[in-house]
Amino acid sequence: MAPPGTDEGGASTALTTTNNETTVATEKKVKKIIRRKKRPARAQIDPSTMKSEPPPQTGTIFNIWYNKWSGGDREDKYLSQTAAISRCNIANDSGYTKADKINGSYFCLFFARGICPKGQECEYLHRLPGIHDMFNPNVDVFGRDKHSDYRDDMGGVGSFMRQNRTIYVGRIHVSEDIEEVVARHFAEWGQIERIRVLNTRGVAFITYSNEANAQFAKEAMAHQALDHSEILNVRWATADPNPMAQAREARRIEEQAAEAVRRALPAEFIAEIEGRDPEARKRKRIEGGFGLAGYEAPDDVYFARGSNAVNAAGREGFELEDEQRLMIESAELAEKAEAEENGILSDNALAAIQGAQGSFGPKRKAAASSGPLVAYDSDSD
Ligand SMILES: [Zn+2]
Repeated sequence: MAPPGTDEGGASTALTTTNNETTVATEKKVKKIIRRKKRPARAQIDPSTMKSEPPPQTGTIFNIWYNKWSGGDREDKYLSQTAAISRCNIANDSGYTKADKINGSYFCLFFARGICPKGQECEYLHRLPGIHDMFNPNVDVFGRDKHSDYRDDMGGVGSFMRQNRTIYVGRIHVSEDIEEVVARHFAEWGQIERIRVLNTRGVAFITYSNEANAQFAKEAMAHQALDHSEILNVRWATADPNPMAQAREARRIEEQAAEAVRRALPAEFIAEIEGRDPEARKRKRIEGGFGLAGYEAPDDVYFARGSNAVNAAGREGFELEDEQRLMIESAELAEKAEAEENGILSDNALAAIQGAQGSFGPKRKAAASSGPLVAYDSDSD
């Protein structure tokens, strides 16, 4: 009995050992991957070198020597001549912070400047903005209020009147490989759409695919050096006077507005407009015949609006013009306020939505009929 038992024991021990080894190896692999993906943010500078915690982000410029925020609209001449004391390193520094658990958190301005001592304890995001980070157009990614106008020197937070994805960079050391140097340094802050370098003048315009990355890059590269010990002058670019660029920007904004409209309207409207809803098409064929056998109204007739519209739905809202307009306007104001609260839509998108809603008589009528004026009106009739 003893020899077979020993054999068995030996075999099973051997088996178990092999199993353990595989399990351990797999666990190690999984842990490694998870750690790399969900790594806590690290402190960028030693907290002990800071006198105290930086105060909340209230101003435009954080003066690390005085440990306070200064100025909304004036930039200290002295500060603009001084090299940044640290620089953000996205690959090494980014990671999760307390802010990742909270929806709508803003990005850490200190992180962008490479001087946040808080690491994972920070209440702002320590990573690069991506396409899914959407903020109210009135604030930048750091949560700072934008202004109606740019500063005279094009510094600061910028304007909410124009979506600006292009930063101006001056005082670049002029070298043979200036284009490569600029591209290499600025690629760290997000996807770049276009770079224009004025080689002999040491000036570059960098356009990011997303406004958020331009905002981040502007802070990350202010007063930094590229391959030489220059002190960069980073500003917002003024609007490109090139008509091609302006047309391109206009088209981009239109596409964005259309996308916002698509998201804001009920799915069945979109499907009907884009001809993707077979039910709606059948309905249109029946209703759009206007009693004429075999006749199918073309879109511009079917969707036409006005007091003379063939479609009864298109005439609605034009019968009681003044009162209706009042109600439409108040409903639109309420909607606009709501959209602004949600903070998703740009002014362009809002304008587009209001324009689009104008062409849907039935929907507007339904909203308006709940108003008190309608009841009054039907009584007087
Ligand atoms: Zn931070």
